[in-house]
Amino acid sequence: MDHSSPTGYVFDDYLSELGGNWFEQDALLRAWLDRSRLDTATTDWLRGFGAAAAGQLRERADAVEHRENLPFVAERGPYNRASSEVVLPAATRQSLAEIHGSGIWRAELDERARYAAVYLINQNGEAGTACSTACTDGLIRALRTYGTSDARSRVAIEELEKSTVEQWVHGAQFVTEVQGGSDAATNALRAEPLRDGLWALSGQKWFCSNCTADYWLVTGRVAGGPAGHRGIGLFCVPRLWEGAPNGHRILRLKDKLGTRALPTAELDLEGAIGWPVGAVDSGLKNTVATVLVTSRIHNIVAAAGFARRATREAHAYAGFRRAFGRRIAEHPLLGESLRRLSDGADRTEAGAFATVDAWTHSLVRPDDEDRALWARVLVSIAKAVTTRRVPNHVYEAMMVFGGNGIEERFCALPRLWRDAAILETWEGPYTLLLMQAFGDLLKFGVKGRERSFLELGLGDHLAADDARELTEALGAADESEGALRWGELAPKLYARFEARALAELVDGR
Ligand SMILES: Cc1cc2nc3c(=O)[nH]c(=O)nc-3n(C[C@H](O)[C@H](O)[C@H](O)COP(=O)(O)OP(=O)(O)OC[C@H]3O[C@@H](n4cnc5c(N)ncnc54)[C@H](O)[C@@H]3O)c2cc1C
Repeated sequence: MDHSSPTGYVFDDYLSELGGNWFEQDALLRAWLDRSRLDTATTDWLRGFGAAAAGQLRERADAVEHRENLPFVAERGPYNRASSEVVLPAATRQSLAEIHGSGIWRAELDERARYAAVYLINQNGEAGTACSTACTDGLIRALRTYGTSDARSRVAIEELEKSTVEQWVHGAQFVTEVQGGSDAATNALRAEPLRDGLWALSGQKWFCSNCTADYWLVTGRVAGGPAGHRGIGLFCVPRLWEGAPNGHRILRLKDKLGTRALPTAELDLEGAIGWPVGAVDSGLKNTVATVLVTSRIHNIVAAAGFARRATREAHAYAGFRRAFGRRIAEHPLLGESLRRLSDGADRTEAGAFATVDAWTHSLVRPDDEDRALWARVLVSIAKAVTTRRVPNHVYEAMMVFGGNGIEERFCALPRLWRDAAILETWEGPYTLLLMQAFGDLLKFGVKGRERSFLELGLGDHLAADDARELTEALGAADESEGALRWGELAPKLYARFEARALAELVDGR
């Protein structure tokens, strides 16, 4: 490539710092994986992921965000058939094929290795791939947990877990309706039984991301069922039925601030055929417990990936760019900004990995009840705190670049910043999730044993006042006083959790 410039000013030294292998460059990631004593094949697999994430996945992630490459709804086809299909650029399809066909969904894969790959994928922002990755994980877990008695679910699990680059399938999840996403018990989309265990789904879903997926998990109100959350079932709906679009119509694609490479549709289901995943009176409970919690784990890991990528790029640029006769990294306040970015990325990464550990422990040891409750509360707080914080982190990194930081084709950070702003909205925004965590603490009897419960997660990082503040929040005379006290305390608790996680990773414990 010709890098010559009319002024003689070139960016080659900065550009040569980008890429490489993000697995090999990440000492904290490798320290975390050391706990799993991975075999050589798995380590090599992750090394390959590190090279792909920093290489072809990175290049495609930049390309698919350009306006001319964004997803679109296909025009009506030539044979007088209604068309309701979304077209993705070939580059997005190729990245999806490589991710889903990589073996990431093998049941026997070590969970840390799986989320290490998720972390590497997310360093490229959403890029039309991260949502698909999260939803596919949630779909597999939901089918495995609630659906294995159904032959159709078993076929889907087989297809998902055995995806290859040539033949891959992926998932999506549609819960939110126009009247609200947080209070999903208000879902109105109708589900009516047909025959042979099949159901027909009719109604509208308001935010349907990754709508080109092969299998959709859809929540719907069961005909004749009770009001409220017990009347909502969870259904698996293939996008195609007997080779044709399965009773649905794309109304439009959302014009979004971020995650632009990801198609998010408003969708009408018009008798789409599906089957229940688990008991139809437990659909919402199962959706939250498995599908949404899995996505929240992806969001937490994504925040860590975004923070790491932004920090790495800021350091690369600050070591190259000169102002007032020296590298900008050598100016004290800019240097301070770089240190803050490194500290923030380290804390976010260590906290995310420790949250994954707590959650995966709760999956294999649900009988370890207190730890399972800690994991449940932790995931809500971690998702809320890290996704609210990460846009500021990316913004600070972007400003290390000055004006070049806002030029879409100069660096990836404007895209990462926009994607970071979306992360909080997924699977419950900040205030909703903090209140869910608070509700869990009240419901599952933490009152009266606040100190021992917090020590379980924070160990010797528990501060003197934490248990007292939690006691005051849980015992507050009225609901809003308790909520406000908890709103102050929760981010402090998570900061201590991150500090503990980082200290343990650095010490090699
Ligand atoms: C780009 C994008 C893609 C999306 N893709 C999907 C998808 O594929 N599938 C899907 O199902 N959904 C999807 N969503 C929807 C997303 O899950 C919802 O936006 C989210 O759940 C919040 O719902 P809402 O937007 O209706 O906000 P509302 O429920 O109206 O909430 C508005 C505000 O009120 C707060 N709030 C609500 N209840 C409480 C409470 N009890 N305590 C404290 N605060 C509360 C919330 O925190 C929020 O700040 C997507 C959203 C975006 C932005």
